[in-house]
Amino acid sequence: MVDDPARTATTAAIDFDAVLVATPPRFGPADALTIAEQTFGLHAATARDLGSERDQSFLLLDADERPTAVLKVSNVAEDPATLDMEARAVLHAARVDPTLPLAIPWRAPKAGDSDDPAGRRAAIDGADGPHQVRLYDVLPGRQRTDPLTLSDTALAGWGETTARLGRALRGFFHPRAQRTMLWDVQHATRTRAFVDTIRDAHQRELVTRVLDRFEVTVAPKWPSLRAQVVHGDLTTDNALTDAAGRIIGIVDFGDMSHSALVVDLVSALDSLVTDRDDPFRVARLVIDGYQRVTLLEPIELRLMGELLAARSAVTIAISSWRSSHGLEDAGFAERYNATAARTIEAILAVGWDDLGRRFGADATPEPDRALRDRRARVMGPALEPLTYEHPIHVAEASGVWMTDTTGRRFLDAYNNVPCVGHAHPRVTAAIARQARRINTNMRYLHGTAIELAERLVATCPPGLDTVMFVNSGSEANDLAWRLATTFTVHRGGLCNAFAYHGISDAIAPLSPETWPGGRRPEHVETWPAPDRYRGRDQQPDGFTAAVERLAARGIAPAAVILDGVLTSDGFAEAESSYVAELVRRTHAAGGLWIADEVQGGHGRTGSAMWSFQRFGIVPDLVTLGKPMGNGHPIGAVITRREIAARFAAETVFFSTFGGNPVSAAAALAVLDVLDDERVLERVNDAGEQLRGAIRDVATRHPVLGDTRGPGLAIGIEVVVDPVAKIPDPALAGAIKEGMRERGVLVGTCGAAGNVIKVRPPLAFTAAEVPIFAAALEEALVALRR
Ligand code: PMP
Repeated sequence: MVDDPARTATTAAIDFDAVLVATPPRFGPADALTIAEQTFGLHAATARDLGSERDQSFLLLDADERPTAVLKVSNVAEDPATLDMEARAVLHAARVDPTLPLAIPWRAPKAGDSDDPAGRRAAIDGADGPHQVRLYDVLPGRQRTDPLTLSDTALAGWGETTARLGRALRGFFHPRAQRTMLWDVQHATRTRAFVDTIRDAHQRELVTRVLDRFEVTVAPKWPSLRAQVVHGDLTTDNALTDAAGRIIGIVDFGDMSHSALVVDLVSALDSLVTDRDDPFRVARLVIDGYQRVTLLEPIELRLMGELLAARSAVTIAISSWRSSHGLEDAGFAERYNATAARTIEAILAVGWDDLGRRFGADATPEPDRALRDRRARVMGPALEPLTYEHPIHVAEASGVWMTDTTGRRFLDAYNNVPCVGHAHPRVTAAIARQARRINTNMRYLHGTAIELAERLVATCPPGLDTVMFVNSGSEANDLAWRLATTFTVHRGGLCNAFAYHGISDAIAPLSPETWPGGRRPEHVETWPAPDRYRGRDQQPDGFTAAVERLAARGIAPAAVILDGVLTSDGFAEAESSYVAELVRRTHAAGGLWIADEVQGGHGRTGSAMWSFQRFGIVPDLVTLGKPMGNGHPIGAVITRREIAARFAAETVFFSTFGGNPVSAAAALAVLDVLDDERVLERVNDAGEQLRGAIRDVATRHPVLGDTRGPGLAIGIEVVVDPVAKIPDPALAGAIKEGMRERGVLVGTCGAAGNVIKVRPPLAFTAAEVPIFAAALEEALVALRR
C-alpha cells in the first residue's frame, strides 16, 4: 500500500476495500510473459497490456499472433481469499446455468485435480509485494462495446443476461462477500467523504443532491431489498458482445459483494442509458429483458431512479478522489465524470416524484376530482355512474378489505366477484404463473381449460356434461340463449319482472332492469318474483299467465332464465316447490331452463356450489361468470350433450379468449380454494351470524323491515314503516352512504331500489359481523337525528 498521509486520513475515516487505494501493479509485457511461464507453464510469444483500473491484464499471443489466454495480475492489496470467492462464485454460476458465457480461471499446474479455488491462482513477487496471478481463456467477442450501437433487441438481451447471472448466483454465499465495495451503491453515502475532491462545482452539487436523496429515500429501505452475492459491475467494460450486441462473455468478478439483487441491473443500466436521448425508454427495454427471467418487486422499480443516480454520483466521487491522488488518469476521469453527470441531469430533469414511473413502478395516484373529470370526458355518459356520493379511489385490496389511495380501509360487504377474497394469493399466483408461461386460445391443445371443464361437470347433476367457455356472464347467457333457440326452434323468452342477465343484443331483452325506455321486447314476457315479506304467494300462476301472453302472440318459449338468488328482485325468496313447478311448466311448454349462476354460484348460498341445487331442480343450461375467476374475466355454459350437438350441427363455436389458459388457471385456483378453505361452511356460518346481527339492529330500527337471502346473498328491505311496508329507497340510499362513510361497503337493489344489497366476498367471516352491524346501527342512528 502507498503511504500518502492525506489518503490514509480519508480511508481511515471511511473503512473501505484496500484495493481502492493501492497503486495498480506496474509490470511490462515482457514481465507478463515470464509470469505466465513461471506460474501456469504457458509459453506465449507476445503480451499486450489491456489496461485496467486497479489490476493489470495482458492478452497473451502465440508466435502466430493468435490469442491464447488472458493473464490477470492482481493489485498488491488484493486478499487471496477474495479471489477464491470469485473463483467459487464463477464455478457456482457456471454449474447453475452452464450456458452463461463466464470467464473461468485456469487451474494452475501445481493444483492438480483439486477443487480448492486456491489452485486457480499463483503468487509472484513485485516491487510493492506479492501479487496474485490468474489465467483465463480468451473469450470471443468485442470488448468495450459502444452502448449507443446496441439495438433494442440487444438492450433487452442485456437485461435478460443480467437477470440470468443474478439467478445463477442466487444460491451462492461466501464470507468474503460481506465487504465494503465503494462502487456498490449500497455504500453511496460513504462517498460523501470524497465530494470535496470533485473539482467541477456543478458536478459537486449534482452528487450532493443525489446523495442527499439517497440518504432519505433509499438508505432506510435498503435492509428490505432482496439481497444476495452479486457481480456488481455488469457494464459494457465487463461484457463481450457479438456482432448483434448480445453478451457472449462476462468477465471481471472483482467487484463482487453481498448487496441488493438490483445492483447488477443498476450497473448495467448505468452503462446502457448513458448519453442516450431516450434514456428511460432504453431503461424500460433493459428492465423488460430482466423481467423475462426475474420479476422485480415494486420497491425495486420505485427506487431504480435513485439507485441509478447514486451509481453515477458514486462514480464521480470515487474517480475524482482517485484522480486527485494520482491513482487514475485525470483526463480519463474527467470524461468519465462528465458522462455520469449527464445521467444525473437526465434523472433530475424528470424530478424524483415522477421517476419511479419511468422505470415501470406504479404512478402516484391522481387527485380524485381530476380523475373523475377525465373518466367522464373519455368514457361518456352511458357508463354507470361511480358508486357513492364520495366515490372510492381504490388502491389495493386483500380478502374482505379494500384500501383507497389515502390508505383508508373499507370492509367490503358488496363485491361478489372476488369470490374467495380480493387478491387471493392462490389465484393471483396462478394467473401470474400461467401468464408468464403461455396464454393462447382453444385451438391449441392445453390441459388447463380441459381440467377446469371436467371439474365443473363433476359439480353438476348427471347429464350436464358439456362445458363451453366464454368471457363474461353476459356472454354465457347470450350463448345459452342461442343454444336454447337452436335446440327448441322457439323464439320466446321469460324472466323475472326486474331481472338482469347481461348486456348483449340477445340477452339485454331478458334484462327488464335495463330495458330501454322500460319497453318490453315483443318476444319476451316476465313474471313477478314472489314476495314472502308481503305475503305474495309462491304460486306459479303468474308464470303461466306470462307463458300464455307469449302464446297469444304466437310465440313459444325457447328458454326461461332465473338468477338462483334473485338479486335484482332484492334477493326475493323462492321456495323449491315453486321453482320446481316453474321448471316443469317450462318443459311442458317446450322451453329450456337456464340457471343463471353468475350471482348465486360458486358457493354464494353456502348450501351448495350452485344456487339451483337448493331448489332440487336440474336445469338444461347453467351459466357462470363474475366469481368464476375471482375477478379475472371468464364465463361458461354447462349443458347437456344433445343441446350442444344440435348447435354444432348448425354452426361452430369459438371465442378467442374463451377458455384461455390464464383464465382457466384462475378459475381452477378458485375451485381449489373453495375446497381447501371449506368456503361453503364458512358462508353458512358467516351468513347466519350476519343475518342474526342485522335482525338484532332491526329490533331497534324497524325501518329495516325484512332481512332475507341464503348464505352471503343478503337483502335488507328498508320501508317507511313496518306495518305499511312501503318501500323507502331514499332511506336505503342514505344508509348505504352512511355505511360507506363509516367504512363498510354495501349497495342497493330491488325493483323499488329499497333493498340493501349485502353480498361480500366469500372471505367474509363471523369476525367481520360486529364491524358490519356497528356501521349499520351508527348510520341508522345518525339518520334518525
Ligand atoms: N347475470 C346476472 C344474474 C348478473 O347479475 C349479471 C351481472 N350483474 C350478469 C348476468 C352479467 O354478467 P357480466 O356483467 O359479467 O356480463
